Amino acid sequence: MLVDSHCHLNFPNLANQLPEIKAAMQANAVNHALCISVTLPDFPEVLALAEHNEHFFASVGVHPDYEDIQEPTVEELVQLADHPKVVAIGETGLDYFRLKGDLEWQRTRFRTHIRAAIAAGKPLIIHTRSAAEDTIRIMTEEGANQVGGVMHCFVEDMAVAQQAMDLGFYISFSGIVTFKNAKSVKEVAKQVPLDRLLVETDSPYLAPVPYRGKTNNPSYVKHVAEEIASLREISYEAVAQASTDNFFRLFKHAKRIN
Ligand SMILES: [Zn+2]
Ligand SMILES: [Zn+2]
Repeated sequence: MLVDSHCHLNFPNLANQLPEIKAAMQANAVNHALCISVTLPDFPEVLALAEHNEHFFASVGVHPDYEDIQEPTVEELVQLADHPKVVAIGETGLDYFRLKGDLEWQRTRFRTHIRAAIAAGKPLIIHTRSAAEDTIRIMTEEGANQVGGVMHCFVEDMAVAQQAMDLGFYISFSGIVTFKNAKSVKEVAKQVPLDRLLVETDSPYLAPVPYRGKTNNPSYVKHVAEEIASLREISYEAVAQASTDNFFRLFKHAKRIN
């Protein structure tokens, strides 16, 4: 049994293949998936996926890569998160790789999400790219340790992983860990304690080897777990069991269905 802790099933190239994807998930014992919201207008689609499929959960948030878009308030996020199937706030965070210039608005938006998560009592899903120092600083300043969460699609080094874990966060690995040249990510995946590790696809992006370059989907999360098991020289079952237990410990509002 495995959980995909981060996917975008409402994106068009996945939403139109839902029956096939669900069958593939079942065939690979991927029992649950967390569908991630990236804008306020896309949230109803994400929530509908969770409402119509007992094995799917939803998050609410506005991704740092969308600049000219409806800005959420703390109150709005808290209100939208007040639903049994909304188990997290995000994805939120900082991305200094995709966007350049004065990104103060990203930092403000990130703070809004952390405040909303604390008010709602739900964990955070954090995206950080080329912005680790500011990400950890804002998490610390805003008291993100009160709710914890996950550093999704982690590509930073072990020092950053440790700082996040010190704030009570989990570390989630995507298909990047299967890429031949991702040496530092493989190293972190070896070292993160087993009780802090999650797996994800971030589908439709970042399909793991042997599907690299193709459209990703939650059933492929199996290849992420297999790679981590092989790196750590432990069984696939051990990674599947630990990452699943971690998921339901962190996202305590998510109901486990067997
Ligand atoms: Zn992301
Ligand atoms: Zn994402």
